[in-house]
Amino acid sequence: MQCVHTKSELRQALAVQDQQPRVLVPTMGALHAGHASLMRQGRAIAGDKGLLVATIFLNPVQFDNAGDLQAYPTTPESDLALCEECGVDIVFMPKPDEMYASDRSMSLEENYLSTVLCGAKRPGHFAGVCLVVHKLFNLVQPTDAVFGKKDYQQLAILRRMVRDMDIPVTIHGAEIVREDDGLALSSRNVRLTAAHRSAAPMIQQSLQLAKSQFEQGMDAEAICAEVKFGLELIVGVQVDYVSIVDATDLHDLEADSDLALLAVAAYFGEVRLIDNIEMKRA
Ligand code: AMP
Repeated sequence: MQCVHTKSELRQALAVQDQQPRVLVPTMGALHAGHASLMRQGRAIAGDKGLLVATIFLNPVQFDNAGDLQAYPTTPESDLALCEECGVDIVFMPKPDEMYASDRSMSLEENYLSTVLCGAKRPGHFAGVCLVVHKLFNLVQPTDAVFGKKDYQQLAILRRMVRDMDIPVTIHGAEIVREDDGLALSSRNVRLTAAHRSAAPMIQQSLQLAKSQFEQGMDAEAICAEVKFGLELIVGVQVDYVSIVDATDLHDLEADSDLALLAVAAYFGEVRLIDNIEMKRA
């Protein structure tokens, strides 16, 4: 495995290892088993003959909250060990000034899927995600890229970006990886207090209950209200949103929607956790 820090080192490494398919797994570091599952999926797509590139870049442009960026964990040594274990060929680990000129004046906005759920709550977040992923696509020129369903809206927006911008990359979605107690793995989980860490599996428990209620025909708004009410019984928890939407366009559920998505974001103290579940009416 080769670890490179600059664009020119990356270009050189890719010129030497130019086998196809070339699969990209972008991350912000503080890697855990969720990232590992994306990298393993990437390795499977690349096969023995292809190339797997992972990027570790804490993208400042997608943070709408300076405190969140400041508090974001960084674990470069164990990150590299995990990349190696997952069969990554090249890790690109740039510094912010390598990625962004100080007078950067380009942005990249998606204007439909980004207007709801987290996009409505975190101004500029998805524009920052689109910008960095577009840049990584230009730098790495992958045939394929893997993103997690944990960030369901991000995955939908990036699929839209490649469609609308004619970017020749196949996007693959990976299932959410959870702790044994059901909490979705997240780099932010280490910031939870002990009390909030032990209460946080309630998120998935309430999503599972909601899914069975939805599948039995219960009204979507009533389900969301119940999830919100239940989570806010935990001391120090503030729900940001609970929504049931069409899983494809992330807007209102229609009678003919094939798949629904229940998405939740909640502050456990300072830490914003997100989770979701796909659901189908019986
Ligand atoms: P991040 O480092 O948080 O930007 O995440 C990098 C990639 O890993 C994104 O595509 C995330 O959706 C994905 N990811 C993060 N946590 C999980 C998880 N628990 N299960 C599956 N994928 C995840």
